[in-house]
Amino acid sequence: MKIDLGLTFDNSYAKNLEGFYAACPGAKAPNPELVKLNTSLANSIGLSNNDPDQLAEVLSGSEAPVGASPLAQVYAGHQFGGFSPQLGDGRALLLGEVLDEDGKSLDVQLKGSGRTPFSRGGDGKAALGAVLREYIVSEAMFALNIPTTRALAAVTTGERIMRTQLLPGAVLTRVASSHLRVGTFQFFASRGEQDKVKQLADYAIERHYPQLKTSQQPYLDFLCAVCDKQADLVARWLLVGFVHGVMNTDNMTISGETIDYGPCAFMDDYDAKAVFSSIDRDGRYSYNNQPVLAQWNLARLAETLLPLISDDEEEAVTKATEVVTKFWEVYQGYWLTGMRAKLGISTEEEGDLALCEQLLESMSGQEVDFTQLFRQLARDLEKVTNESDHLFNDAEKFIQWKELWRARLSRDDQSRDSQSKQESSQEKRYLAEHAAMMNAVNPMYIPRNHQVEHVIEAAEQRADYEPFENLLAVLESPFTYQSGAGEYAKPAPMSFGPYTTFC
Ligand code: AMP
Ligand code: MG
Ligand code: MG
Repeated sequence: MKIDLGLTFDNSYAKNLEGFYAACPGAKAPNPELVKLNTSLANSIGLSNNDPDQLAEVLSGSEAPVGASPLAQVYAGHQFGGFSPQLGDGRALLLGEVLDEDGKSLDVQLKGSGRTPFSRGGDGKAALGAVLREYIVSEAMFALNIPTTRALAAVTTGERIMRTQLLPGAVLTRVASSHLRVGTFQFFASRGEQDKVKQLADYAIERHYPQLKTSQQPYLDFLCAVCDKQADLVARWLLVGFVHGVMNTDNMTISGETIDYGPCAFMDDYDAKAVFSSIDRDGRYSYNNQPVLAQWNLARLAETLLPLISDDEEEAVTKATEVVTKFWEVYQGYWLTGMRAKLGISTEEEGDLALCEQLLESMSGQEVDFTQLFRQLARDLEKVTNESDHLFNDAEKFIQWKELWRARLSRDDQSRDSQSKQESSQEKRYLAEHAAMMNAVNPMYIPRNHQVEHVIEAAEQRADYEPFENLLAVLESPFTYQSGAGEYAKPAPMSFGPYTTFC
């Protein structure tokens, strides 16, 4: 008898997009064991089976559950700028879509469940370390209010897989608004299958942007909507110091969720050029390049949609170019809104962009912890201290910037309450308000690289999942001080050295 997870699968991708995937079973895992279930997420999608053995069986890919229709999606992609016409899920299986509490359709996908027709030379497997890393970072992003795929479960398979050394194998179950990528459109466009591009665009609009169905120019508006979502997303990445690491077009979603946590990392010290991935030698996907490359990827999406935008090629190019060009302005708007909040500013002034950029300039080369600085700024406001100066090697420029910022906060207060006199009790209340506003958006806890590595080491070497559970628990409430969690708020010790990540 098939195992029932209690999930009601809809399988719209399987039903509506014949030719866009290969139906495919998972590989049998020798000894599947459930190491983590995200119970709140499980509840929200109606996963009611709580038998760990049955969950391990299904969520390792060993057995398809009742109602599922496992498939590997096909896609193409620009990888580090070079086009690969055929990629696809080489180690992932979509079990199907389920509805959450709000009636929203969500993909349930296994990652690491064995070879598919799109595996090329790969083994179709995932290492436990990579699975735990994706679990931690994606759940941390969710708690940080950053659109993301989510982690539903982690299962070890009981087999060892070959990477640079033999490592325990595992499967991650992730939940996403969908796994439609820029690369999915590229696959069909590059083969000249325009009817399939249209079918895909219609499916994507139905699923993610249903308000566009009645638009006069649905495909241009679709492009515009994806650009908007991605501008917002990438701005949010920069605002927390996140470096995705591998923004290939096959890793950029149509929904605007962060996907494919491979060689990603949060920076400790602020560095505009931060790169962690071992294979990103030219810094194509460095911290500051992320909006540039997002725009580049969106231009690739635009190319696939040209024939749908207009029959007149010139007109299509003009309109699409306008949308993609505007990405930069839209992105900057999101980033500036986010920076204002990070700095406790609630009004808008002409000079705000320059003020924010000046802060970053003052941080450049200073080995100042990006996350700690914004929390410390708020603490200094409230306590009337200057502790943040000590985060800098040489705080001269930062101290000059603080004068400008404090003057800006005063103007913020005045424009909010132009009537009242600036009595000192009033001023104090305002400072507390600025600080509260800052603390609501500036995390105290992020997944620090040394902590993530510590978690992986304990799990890999001793099957000890306590560090994993502890870190996850802290990251669930990133904006709230947690007593006893001091270690999690600190950057890596010097002895940790420069950090390199691997795909
Ligand atoms: P990524 O850079 O992880 O997004 O993966 C790029 C492509 O390589 C995708 O088509 C993946 O499915 C595929 N891939 C990555 N790792 C493996 C693996 N171990 N086995 C098979 N395919 C893989
Ligand atoms: Mg990928
Ligand atoms: Mg430092």
